[in-house]
Amino acid sequence: MGQLNNFSSIDSNVIKIAAEQFGTPFYLYDENTIVNKCKSLFAMPNAYGITVRYAMKANSTKALLAIIHNQGLKIDASSMNEVRRAHIAGISYEDIILTTQEVPLNREMQALKDMISQGLKYNVCSLQQLYNIGDFAGNINVALAIRIHPGVGSGESATRNTGDKYSCFGIHLSDIEQALVYAKSKSIIFDHVHIHIGSGAAPDIWQNNIDLEMSIIEKYFPDAQVVSFGGGLREARMSNENPADINELGCYAKEKIEQFYQRTSRKLGMEIEPGNYVVANAGYVITSVIDKKKTGNYGLNFLVLDGGMELNARPLLYASQHPFYVISKNGDLLSSEFDEVTTNKFQAVLVGRCCESGDSQCLNAEGLNTPRKVAEPEIGDYIAIGGTGAYCSTMSPMNYNSHVQASEILFTSDHKLIEIRSKQTLEQLIENEV
Ligand SMILES: *Cc1c(COP(=O)(O)O)cnc(C)c1O
Repeated sequence: MGQLNNFSSIDSNVIKIAAEQFGTPFYLYDENTIVNKCKSLFAMPNAYGITVRYAMKANSTKALLAIIHNQGLKIDASSMNEVRRAHIAGISYEDIILTTQEVPLNREMQALKDMISQGLKYNVCSLQQLYNIGDFAGNINVALAIRIHPGVGSGESATRNTGDKYSCFGIHLSDIEQALVYAKSKSIIFDHVHIHIGSGAAPDIWQNNIDLEMSIIEKYFPDAQVVSFGGGLREARMSNENPADINELGCYAKEKIEQFYQRTSRKLGMEIEPGNYVVANAGYVITSVIDKKKTGNYGLNFLVLDGGMELNARPLLYASQHPFYVISKNGDLLSSEFDEVTTNKFQAVLVGRCCESGDSQCLNAEGLNTPRKVAEPEIGDYIAIGGTGAYCSTMSPMNYNSHVQASEILFTSDHKLIEIRSKQTLEQLIENEV
């Protein structure tokens, strides 16, 4: 038995028991970590109240939504179907905001109107979205949220930067006046102003964004009651990474919101909508070593796992690094990413079982395999890939090579293992084919 790291209540023995019970590969989530993360967000300094929304695209499994919502978080949905899934999980429309690239038409537009009538907050993200909802919102007198494209952004990689001119999220600064003229003609007000600049944004850019957004509200949005700074709070997966200092960001935001009050006599509520930060480090992909290969004397050691890109595509998409934990068949922790003293480390590339050279957990930014230090496992030992609670189960090319979607297991706060989504069957994989 061995502790994986200093934040998880899952240890190597829990992984062994889960693997024997459910069969690898699967996702394993730690309820304690999720709950602690949620609590830490509410402890963030703020001026006149804070609303924390969970960006559910990070992980949308019903049981996790329920845990997070029970902690008092509301929901940020990125599609109509996400709104539906949150609602099916027992979350009322009043607790959901829809921030989407979708432009609902026809029946979907009718569905959207029904949801708005029942309390869904609609965050318009383009002029077209605004024009499509304008008559309805004006007629029933419901205030809208507006997502602003600030013209600057930040993210851990170019593909996760949503604020600069190379991305198209939100109504660009240069279109705000046009949006306001239209809104006025329909008697629509914007009571909620939102900017999300990207995932894993650098703290200084987050602070610049706060300044920028406050000035935009002061200049254009006299009816705003809520300022949303979006998500993108950086989380650290590897020991050499640094998480966002939410205390520092909170202090900064608090000061700016208080100064805004001094200038304008308006008290703005503050909103944040993290996804990654809430669930990333609560999740593990649990795999078994199914093969070992070498590419010659000057080549590399490969460990072939029974789950790879179809469970975690982040190395392929972003060259992101995840912590590895090697666990023997009988539950001993042979090596942990966070344990520098472990001896007997050898260098290996961890790959999945797909016929695809990108199916690797060890890719660098050029797409090349770079070996990592781990204890040498035997075939049948387990490897847990950490930091996989966010953007893995929701975002992976799950049926590639006809591998079925993996199950999801929760390690509860009272130390039970429960299956919160069962493994897809082969019949389900092909059921819609004719
Ligand atoms: C994805 C997204 C988030 C969450 O981003 P994280 O990096 O997971 O915190 C928040 N808000 C919006 C609008 C998003 O699209």
